Amino acid sequence: MLKIISLIVSGILISQTIPAQSPEQMILQKFTEENTGSILEEYSRFLYLPNVAADPAGQQKNAAFIMEMMKNRGIQHIQLLNATTANVPPAVYGEVKVPGATQTLIFYAHYDGQPVNPAQWAKGLEPFVPKLYTNAIDKAGTNIPFPADGRYQKDWRIYARAAADDKAGIGAILNAYDALVKKGLTPGCNLKFFFEGEEEAGSPHLHEILEKHKALLASDLWIICDGPIHQSGKKQIIFGVRGDTHLDLTVYASKRPLHSGHYGNWAPNPALLLAQLLSSMKDENGRVTIKGFYDDVTPLSPAEQKALQEVPSVDEQMKKELGISNSEMKGLSLNESINLPSLNINGIQSGNVGKLASNQIPTYATAVLDLRLVLGNDWKRQQQKVINHIQSKGFQVLDYEPTDEERNKYAKLIKVVPGADGVNAQRTSMDLPIIKKVIAIVKSTTKDQVVLQPTMGGTLPLFLFEQDLNAKTITIPVANHDNNQHAENENIRIGNLMDGIVMMGLLMLFR
Ligand SMILES: [Zn+2]
Repeated sequence: MLKIISLIVSGILISQTIPAQSPEQMILQKFTEENTGSILEEYSRFLYLPNVAADPAGQQKNAAFIMEMMKNRGIQHIQLLNATTANVPPAVYGEVKVPGATQTLIFYAHYDGQPVNPAQWAKGLEPFVPKLYTNAIDKAGTNIPFPADGRYQKDWRIYARAAADDKAGIGAILNAYDALVKKGLTPGCNLKFFFEGEEEAGSPHLHEILEKHKALLASDLWIICDGPIHQSGKKQIIFGVRGDTHLDLTVYASKRPLHSGHYGNWAPNPALLLAQLLSSMKDENGRVTIKGFYDDVTPLSPAEQKALQEVPSVDEQMKKELGISNSEMKGLSLNESINLPSLNINGIQSGNVGKLASNQIPTYATAVLDLRLVLGNDWKRQQQKVINHIQSKGFQVLDYEPTDEERNKYAKLIKVVPGADGVNAQRTSMDLPIIKKVIAIVKSTTKDQVVLQPTMGGTLPLFLFEQDLNAKTITIPVANHDNNQHAENENIRIGNLMDGIVMMGLLMLFR
């Protein structure tokens, strides 16, 4: 049922058609409208704290800041969950016991961010100096001061590392709880909060921390607040993630660089050998030709297939936005493609180009392969399939620098270093009763379709929650899709952060 509600936004009276909202939603929305200034003041201070893996002291400051945020909100049992290794960024934990509540939701986000290269950020931006813009920079947004009167527009953006990924998750969750307390709304379930500090580094100590605190972290469902909303601008719920693992390849040729005139045609060229090897891994339709690559994929259930068909197509929009004319896997949409394992060349290097270019035959060529995995794949097995393929192409595969003897003996020599830290995929069933309730809550917040994604393209270590805690997980993002996460010019749209607060608040009322 729709009704017309008049809203005052930044002093301008506008009429807008929005769905009949629950009283709780209206209360939470009003809270965000009245407190945008103070919410963003605290949020900016959070964004000033560098949070990259190379800076353990900075990470500790972020953890301390979150503890302070929790303390200010009256959250209980606040503590750092440390790994046994020194200098590992801790997880930050807190909880709220609700008398009479029978169920527990645990809210997850991460406070660490991707490494930064300040030189790549747009003029006027620095990764750890949050700046306010009237829109996205590539949509002609301009820098303005943070307004003293606390009045913000939904399309304004804050630029800073982790503004979206994933301090936005922490901001949405902790301000949602703040809103409940200040508006006298009692959560419908027990709440737990778990903010990780090593997600962007692949969560190397998450397993250890979960194992050590099994009882403390017991819950009925983990709500993962990370990643962007759907590219169409619609809210989405994601039921699984792809897994990920890597392989470093180095093809060897002559021990020293050779003059391309004196030796060209005669000396083997490692760049060509590597290019040939890599091109043998995919056909013209973008399908991986490595034996058995797709064999162990668990098929989607009927509910998952139906959801996938209803995911709005963003293919044409994204092609336009990204400046590309076609997709790699012919005949498959973006959504269909990310439900399959992938093989991606992350980077490739041999010899010099540009100003340093010279007429030489390089000594080696190297590439990093990124394998994304779906349910059914095992990361070690997937690595092995690639190694078997390389061997089938006549390469002598080593896991160390070749000796002189080996260089003289083998025509095709390659060092393959499989990543030691793979992550398997995870998928939660859409048919579980608790999941159906959560879907209904998210749907109640919008008149728009809520996109149900069986799998997101990216990777989170969600299988660990299942494996270590026997827990279910569901991912509910808040950040805008064009937030540039992991890259330069990362940003959060104010409207997304505020909507996220409302949505997390309604989830905390779950009973
Ligand atoms: Zn993230």
